[in-house]
Amino acid sequence: MNRVYNFSAGPAVLPEEVLKKAAEEMMDFQGSGMSINEMSHRSKAFDGVIETAEKDLRELLQIPENYKVLFLQGGASQQFAAVPMNLMKKKKAGYVLTGQWAKKAFQEAKLYGEAVALADSSDETYAYIPDCSDLPVTEDMDYVYICENNTIYGTKFHTLPDTKGKDLVADVSSCYLSEPVDICKYAVMYGGVQKNIGPAGLVISIIREDLITEDCLPGTPTMLKWKTQADNGSLYNTPNCWSIYICGLVFQWLKEQGGLAAMKTRNEEKAKILYDYLDGSKLFKGTVRKEDRSLMNVPFVTGDDALNDLFVKEATAAGLVSLKGHRSVGGMRASIYNAMPKAGVEKLVTFMEDFEKKHG
Ligand SMILES: *Cc1c(COP(=O)(O)O)cnc(C)c1O
Repeated sequence: MNRVYNFSAGPAVLPEEVLKKAAEEMMDFQGSGMSINEMSHRSKAFDGVIETAEKDLRELLQIPENYKVLFLQGGASQQFAAVPMNLMKKKKAGYVLTGQWAKKAFQEAKLYGEAVALADSSDETYAYIPDCSDLPVTEDMDYVYICENNTIYGTKFHTLPDTKGKDLVADVSSCYLSEPVDICKYAVMYGGVQKNIGPAGLVISIIREDLITEDCLPGTPTMLKWKTQADNGSLYNTPNCWSIYICGLVFQWLKEQGGLAAMKTRNEEKAKILYDYLDGSKLFKGTVRKEDRSLMNVPFVTGDDALNDLFVKEATAAGLVSLKGHRSVGGMRASIYNAMPKAGVEKLVTFMEDFEKKHG
């Protein structure tokens, strides 16, 4: 077996302990004589899986009683439509445009009502988070929307916007469970799990209870009404059982690691190793404003496309894989999610130092 250090933005690295446990249980899940992939989602065994997953997630994020946790399909992209369908009662909402995912959500919302761009950092290829201390939020808006960590550009809101009393909706796909958060500051928090939690095909939405009503936009599909999913404990139809199971194992792993405060410390340590090197390097350069840097996604460049390509190629040969940057930024991107060990980041930096000596 030859495991690599996998810097993929998503689907992404999972904890080895979790993969081993899943392998162990694959032929016989807890004495059932079958794998989790072969049993009814209405079985007692699966009930245990989804209930424990929710309980552990609630504990990790300290989710208050008045929030529902929904395990949904269609990825984060499906929620781009579900958000306006469930929330746009006055048919108007404000969006902060900090990258492609925020823009996609914005464009989707326009199908259902008036989506207003409150701020926009496209003038510098989204390399910063715009000032959100005095956004042009108006009384008639139903909510304010952000993409909290911008996977492609490597920026993160380190301070949440002043929504002027409006409900905040956040796509947290690529920073989910990377640090403690105060759920009460959000009306809706959701994310695809394939970045920082588990296997693709599951999105976890955490929604304040009073926002889950029958009063959706006309024509909202039954499946996209949060009420349908909440009333049925996320089991209105067959859910993504496999992903829910693996996420549950990841939640247990996170608890064993010391929870989200411990993850934050670790993630800060890992990111510091890489950013400190980038700040001192003459060859490599981070692409993001320092104060807006993400702990999870770190884009960097050399300024020479041929050298970037050579770097990615040689890194791959050295067991440091999926470092090619997103096509819209170019260069490289190291995604250093919860499951990336510190040793992986150290090995990457040592490799970069050697590369700089040769080519700098
Ligand atoms: C990957 C990503 C998405 C899209 O997720 P899907 O589950 O593929 O729909 C949306 N938002 C952010 C921030 C992402 O990183």
